[in-house]
Amino acid sequence: MNLNNKNFKVFLSTRLSRIFFVLFVSLLCSSAQGSSIQDSSAQADNKKHTEFLELFRQYLQIDTSNPPGGELAAAHFFAHIFEREGIPYDLVESAPGRSNIRAVIKGRKPSALILLHHMDVVPANPEQWEHPPFAALMDDQFIHGRGAVDTKSLGIFHLNAFLNLHRSGVVPDRDVVFMATADEESGGAFGVGWLMEHWPEWFKNIDAVLNEGAVGKSIGGKTTYAVEVTQKIPLWLRLETQGEAGHGAAPHAQTAVTRLLDASTQLQQLQFVPRAIAPVADYFTALAPLYASPWRERFSAINETVKSADSMAELHEFDHRLYALLTSSCTPTRLQGSGKINVVPGMASLEMDCRLLPDVNPEQVVERIQTLLGPEVQVRTLLSFKPGVSSSQHPLFETIAAVLQERYPEALLLPKVSPGFTDSHFFRESGVTAFGFSPILLDEDGSYGVHGVNERLTLDDFHQGLQVVEDIVIQYVTD
Ligand SMILES: [Zn+2]
Repeated sequence: MNLNNKNFKVFLSTRLSRIFFVLFVSLLCSSAQGSSIQDSSAQADNKKHTEFLELFRQYLQIDTSNPPGGELAAAHFFAHIFEREGIPYDLVESAPGRSNIRAVIKGRKPSALILLHHMDVVPANPEQWEHPPFAALMDDQFIHGRGAVDTKSLGIFHLNAFLNLHRSGVVPDRDVVFMATADEESGGAFGVGWLMEHWPEWFKNIDAVLNEGAVGKSIGGKTTYAVEVTQKIPLWLRLETQGEAGHGAAPHAQTAVTRLLDASTQLQQLQFVPRAIAPVADYFTALAPLYASPWRERFSAINETVKSADSMAELHEFDHRLYALLTSSCTPTRLQGSGKINVVPGMASLEMDCRLLPDVNPEQVVERIQTLLGPEVQVRTLLSFKPGVSSSQHPLFETIAAVLQERYPEALLLPKVSPGFTDSHFFRESGVTAFGFSPILLDEDGSYGVHGVNERLTLDDFHQGLQVVEDIVIQYVTD
């Protein structure tokens, strides 16, 4: 069970009694000095937030569209900050212009908390945008720019926590590592994937990784925050068929294209039985009270709901993202045959984006497809990850829960399974705990322009994000 309500409450009550004690002592201490301390701490907060807002805008102005990436400029941006602060750092290039950077605050134990984010962003076409995507323009409510949500804001939240820990002079109980990487948007081959192979010493004694992966959202008028604990596994396949090339006017009985069409008909037999793996069942149970009937009942009995074809078909219509959490799927996305209408090609191909539930073995799915399609079709694996789940029974998850509970007592915290993927899979598949969390509260439609046009972040989200992430990091690594 992931987020066990009982544990959550028990944990919070011990946590809260500590908070009340601290509150009580601090009231005693501050009563004699009146409001001037509060004023000056508010001023200090404002000053700090102004500093990091300015850094956020500078970061957004660095164009790290991937392709080509160009993360070197962003890595230099962080390097200058670390130089100014007197913090040693490592900057390594995985390819020309593709860079990764990390800095470490040494702790007392040989254990490390990694604050991870990616510096690259998906491309933005300025013609479609209301504001230039790399100008970081600001109005009363928003900061506009590619990367505002995915995921340069998280990078600045991490930087704020990291620098403030460093400036405080407090020695943390374990190492705190700030890590900004390249290439996440294209799968991480020049980022975390490359680093794990070439710089394994960056990944020694990891206690936990805090990465992107989940944000807050309003559901049925209730604020929810999510911590991503696992993801569906991508398995990208190319099916290829061969045949004799020739002229369309005098074709052979079977060609590469007709063979591929036959194969695609066969593929309709590839069905996956819907089911709720344990973290997904927990997620639906937690979501249920936020929905009206019949979804409230169906979500709270999700293991029964998955057995009903009618309910599943309705859910697919109602919310295709939730539906995706309950089944593996293979979706054909690209077809290739001849480049010319009167030319019969020697080869034809169909690419499929399969997303598997996190406990499915990708090799078995490939075998199943190969058996179904027979020897005339070659099934090639283009990308495949190993399964991995991070248990929410981890002190970092509990710290996130406690900080959210302190700041937003009305909000609900959900352990989340993501239908997409991030760099967290590199860690989870080697048994390292990685949580996806950014304390941003998206509006009802949940878009904010991530990977689309007009990506933007509210100033409120920015200021709260700074504070929440700092609280989590400081509470987690100091006693
Ligand atoms: Zn991202």
